[in-house]
Amino acid sequence: MKSRTKVVVIGGGIAGCSTLYHLTQEGWSDVVLVERNELTSGTTWHSAAQVTNFGMNQTMVGLKTHSINLYKALSENPEYPINYHHADGGIRLANTEEQMQGYRHFASMARGMGVDFEVIDAEECARRHPLISTTNLLGGLWDPLDGDIDPAQLCQALAYHARKAGAEVYRNTPVTALTQHTDDTWTVHTEQGDIDCDIVVNACGYRVNEVGAMMGVHHPVASMEHQYFLTEDIPGIAEAGHRMPLLRCPISDYYSRQEKGGLLVGFYEQDCKTWGMDGIDPNFVNALCPDDLDRVMDVLAGAFERMPALEETGIRSIVNGPITYTIDGAPLVGPIPGKRNAFCIIGLRAGLGEGGGHGWLLAQQIVHGEACYDTWCLDPRRFTGHTNVELTSLKAIEDYQNEFRFHFPHEHRPAGRPAKTTPLTPVLAAEGAEFTVVNGWERMDYIKPSPDFHPSLSFNFDEAFDIISADVRNVQQNVGLCEVNGFNRFEVTGSDRHSFLDRMFCGTVTKREGRVGLGYLLNHHGMVKCEATVANLPASDRGPERVWYGSAAASEFHDMDWLTQHILASEDVQIRSLTNDQTILVLAGPKSRDVLSACARGDWSNEAFPWLSVRECFIGFAPATVMGVSFSGELAYEIHVPNASLYAAYLALRNAGDAYGLKLFGARAVESMRLEKGFLHWKADILTEFDPYETGLDRFAKTDKDDFVGKEALLKRQAEGKRRQLVSLKIDASHAPAHGGASLMQGDKVIGTVTSGDWGHRVGMNLAYAFVDPNSATVGSKMHVDMYGDLIDAEVIAPSPYDPEHSLMRS
Ligand SMILES: Cc1cc2nc3c(=O)[nH]c(=O)nc-3n(C[C@H](O)[C@H](O)[C@H](O)COP(=O)(O)OP(=O)(O)OC[C@H]3O[C@@H](n4cnc5c(N)ncnc54)[C@H](O)[C@@H]3O)c2cc1C
Repeated sequence: MKSRTKVVVIGGGIAGCSTLYHLTQEGWSDVVLVERNELTSGTTWHSAAQVTNFGMNQTMVGLKTHSINLYKALSENPEYPINYHHADGGIRLANTEEQMQGYRHFASMARGMGVDFEVIDAEECARRHPLISTTNLLGGLWDPLDGDIDPAQLCQALAYHARKAGAEVYRNTPVTALTQHTDDTWTVHTEQGDIDCDIVVNACGYRVNEVGAMMGVHHPVASMEHQYFLTEDIPGIAEAGHRMPLLRCPISDYYSRQEKGGLLVGFYEQDCKTWGMDGIDPNFVNALCPDDLDRVMDVLAGAFERMPALEETGIRSIVNGPITYTIDGAPLVGPIPGKRNAFCIIGLRAGLGEGGGHGWLLAQQIVHGEACYDTWCLDPRRFTGHTNVELTSLKAIEDYQNEFRFHFPHEHRPAGRPAKTTPLTPVLAAEGAEFTVVNGWERMDYIKPSPDFHPSLSFNFDEAFDIISADVRNVQQNVGLCEVNGFNRFEVTGSDRHSFLDRMFCGTVTKREGRVGLGYLLNHHGMVKCEATVANLPASDRGPERVWYGSAAASEFHDMDWLTQHILASEDVQIRSLTNDQTILVLAGPKSRDVLSACARGDWSNEAFPWLSVRECFIGFAPATVMGVSFSGELAYEIHVPNASLYAAYLALRNAGDAYGLKLFGARAVESMRLEKGFLHWKADILTEFDPYETGLDRFAKTDKDDFVGKEALLKRQAEGKRRQLVSLKIDASHAPAHGGASLMQGDKVIGTVTSGDWGHRVGMNLAYAFVDPNSATVGSKMHVDMYGDLIDAEVIAPSPYDPEHSLMRS
């Protein structure tokens, strides 16, 4: 066994084997995998091993496509051939129009990744899968490339090819402890001896938290028991003359695929069960949980109704094994928050299908610092601080119970709520607030007209449309108040804070006391990594001279890692998170200055406190820090208040606002207004797949300034020219927005992808942002957007259709 290597991957299931293989493919051969028992002896060996192409966003579709292509290539490689039923096809069923509309959206989204899904009616479903009945069926989504693979062979093949490229695999080598050294390297302690390495990867499946604990980390991953059975032969299958496609059923929560001459049918029962919550028997190896078919009776009936042949077929065997879930159902693949040189590939609930792609994206991140797709939807840092065992389990149960039911826009499921609140949450709830959830935070969407107001779940504009319209109108004409909680806020202190931030941002960063600036941080490939405001606060009785760095609500761990990893040993810079201590109250509208002046002492005139100013003050008697910034495009103030004083500040603002027509507004109105202003959303419109020029942020990228992170790469990118361009679009439809992922077409050609869209109530337009082919990016360029299967006219318009001169927010 080696005593030193570059990377140690811990765990020899699909996650570990795929990571090891892809590290070698990315050019690192001095890498090893350690496995406590035999390869695949965790969950992988008994997986139903279906390989599907469906994903809810382009990153998921792209990584699954990689799996499919890789598995096909491996299966055809005569050196180590494996069994892969490639392209049997698969159907996701639907019995509501809303589900069908969702499938049409996902088909549009997948087209942008070169994947052809098809939305078919009930008769066509039955033609392609002759065992199913069309009772209570509207149709489904056809995925032509679905199939299944031999899981053990797949892992052995990946390990074989990795070994051939120089990697080593040590079986029967349990990791017992991990030590990180002051230079950020690691020693992996195993029962067979120690291995020093630069980087460790946790790929330990349901034992993820045993290994997490060895580095002082708890991962938000919980295991659920999951069962399938295998049937005797079914005559209808032989008669069909072709293999049965896969089935996924959100109506009755089961799946099936062909296994020999019969079916494999798996269940997601409502009466489900977590597993291993109080520790896992060390001898649970190549093992299963006891069968319990009674638990799945509710969903079994649905499967029998859909496939009547099952009623006459015997069950050959039952498999019940642990399967891992996370807080939002998507795996955790990437850097471990707060750690250096430590990565994970965990929480895989469809790891056989996805594992090829996850290992590929993880290896790219380890070797190159970033993957070819934006991996935020998988990033372990996307949850912050609220992800304990209890909450993770509640969300895991909910997710398991809804396995095939995708989330609709504006849908937030009830488990584990409210996870993060402020003193205002119950106050707003008493006012009738409908809440959205942002990284666990309950954030107000709008005030409901009645307690039983529940807009329907669909991709169309919903019944809240007129409420949002009225909220926006009041902000435009009078003044509105909105709580923005969970917004990320760091306090940066130390004598080198300005030069440090200057090195991190690709543009000019204001150093003037009392001033605020917006800027962007790039990664080492010159792509846009973070968006942040910087506010310079003078020394006061509240603290020393300091910079407040503000960024998106979920970005706390992500941005903290990025910033702290770049502080030089010689630099005097300290960073402290205030995210959970401070909440923003946004006061927006032409009368916002009047309201502020009525409840906060001092001169708030434009001369004394112009746009992009920051000042400490009191709102009534509540200490606050006010910034003159606007996301709505109206005259507006961000009022940052410590949570202990939040209710006091809120009351003062509401009392002062009564005379000016102040009303509450929420996240839905903000979303509409920011689209009218050309303002972007981090991780919707701002992605690591694009540089600042492609993202339309030219004025924020200053290549003539001193060195900054990503400068060298940006200069190269500048010379190469743009591959895509972010544009604003006007869409010729009034029934629905264009959701992120929708494809933009010219003729048969996909020329771009929508990143976000909504109705602009002040301009009366259906608006969207999209990355498009630069040749189609000029104002007036025409194209179609594939909205739920319909090709709708869309046209590029100049950014910020509302008040393009930005005069209102500076007034
Ligand atoms: C019944 C069932 C059906 C399924 N069907 C499908 C399907 O159809 N399609 C699909 O895509 N997915 C399916 N899945 C999910 C899929 O099987 C898993 O997502 C996948 O196998 C997880 O792989 P893994 O590598 O993350 O974990 P594992 O396979 O559990 O591998 C983790 C490895 O880490 C090792 N390890 C743990 N601790 C240590 C240590 N301290 N030192 C060294 N090694 C250690 C373990 O021994 C183990 O081998 C199914 C799961 C179940 C339970």
